[in-house]
Amino acid sequence: MSGPTRSPGGTVAHPIVVVGASAAGLAAAEGLRSRGYGGGLVLIDPDPDLPYERPALSTSLLRDLDGPQPVSPPDDRLERLAAERVHDRAAGLDVDGHEVLLAGGRRLRYRSLVVATGATPHRPAALDGPVGVHTLRDLADARALRHALASATSLVVVGAGFLGTEVAAAAASAGRTVTLVDPLPAPVAPLGSLVSGLVADLHRSHGVDLLLGRSVTEVLGSERVTGVRLDDGRTVPADVVLLALGVAPADSWLADSPLRRDGGVVVDEHLRAAPDVFAAGDVARAFSPRYRAHLRVEHWTTAVGHGDLAAAVALEGPAAASPPELPYVWTEQYDARLCVLGRTLGHHATVVDRQPGSDRLVVAYTDREGRVEGVLTWNWARMLGPWRAHVAAATRLADLL
Ligand SMILES: Cc1cc2nc3c(=O)[nH]c(=O)nc-3n(C[C@H](O)[C@H](O)[C@H](O)COP(=O)(O)OP(=O)(O)OC[C@H]3O[C@@H](n4cnc5c(N)ncnc54)[C@H](O)[C@@H]3O)c2cc1C
Repeated sequence: MSGPTRSPGGTVAHPIVVVGASAAGLAAAEGLRSRGYGGGLVLIDPDPDLPYERPALSTSLLRDLDGPQPVSPPDDRLERLAAERVHDRAAGLDVDGHEVLLAGGRRLRYRSLVVATGATPHRPAALDGPVGVHTLRDLADARALRHALASATSLVVVGAGFLGTEVAAAAASAGRTVTLVDPLPAPVAPLGSLVSGLVADLHRSHGVDLLLGRSVTEVLGSERVTGVRLDDGRTVPADVVLLALGVAPADSWLADSPLRRDGGVVVDEHLRAAPDVFAAGDVARAFSPRYRAHLRVEHWTTAVGHGDLAAAVALEGPAAASPPELPYVWTEQYDARLCVLGRTLGHHATVVDRQPGSDRLVVAYTDREGRVEGVLTWNWARMLGPWRAHVAAATRLADLL
């Protein structure tokens, strides 16, 4: 089921084309089918391993490093979509002609287009080179990292955000010597000093050496990595180095198109980038009515919500669905699961609930006026329910305690 089809009236109906078949792209395709769209559907993505969930790549896929690689259960999501799967890379877009140009030379005419190409890890040339330097974005990266860690004794993680701390936790749990380096004074800094202090303590209690306020200036080793040099001249030995330095939107293939790119493909609150063109997920910088700003959110639930919204708007117009409201993300490290709803960065953190005799707690994040802008639960996800309404309504914390 693909390519142009002739409708009963005799006009040619072009397919809906989705570029990127991961969280946002698959959600878009599923949203189209679940709304009754039975026409041509094309999914373009060069990754042969899809479908899989990226959050597993830094957690369950790296568990038990000395055992066999975990096998994912078969996933027939792609088959159920009855879509044409094109294993190629989109290389250009002709908005006026409604065509996507593929790297292999094929041109695909679309009725509507969903751009869901995600993001690409930063890999500074100065830190690249010898074998043993890794980034982590796709399943092939995760397999390579797992394989390298299986025979390694030491790992340096450069960047102590969610990804870096998760991989550090996995490697430390498997008995590797782990060093976590970050120029900021705390890990997962957007969560504020209270929570990042707890995350730092958690890692230290598992033997991770945190070198905070420090940058890596050089990766050592000619053929194989042997360590890193820091900005204070110190060297840290390593068999494996993970660069967890954040990502950039994967939108360079749109450079010659008229789409506005400014830290991601700029779209309105209904994800429209141009007539019949939508952008969704990590690649999109979407207008948020709630925050009155264009935001690029790198969260799995946002990507899925975006995909579904793009499908709804493509089929039924902007009145069909509302933009996702509150950002939500989680992270798993050792035996801790942190869930974060709303916004934390730059806000004041207060512990608002704590379960005696356990590590469970709830942290509220308030703005300068004392309104709740975000909430974090530590091993206590069910407390998100009662707090969701307070975050959504930006209730004053003083009225709640
Ligand atoms: C290791 C890891 C762990 C994570 N853990 C969490 C977590 O715990 N919680 C959370 O909320 N989020 C997590 N995230 C982030 C989350 O996975 C992303 O926000 C989500 O995958 C974004 O979905 P997406 O579909 O927009 O982009 P992606 O998942 O990046 O998919 C984009 C797809 O587009 C394809 N593509 C790129 N360029 C082209 C092109 N030119 N032509 C065709 N196809 C192209 C790629 O091959 C890819 O399959 C994690 C991410 C990673 C990498």
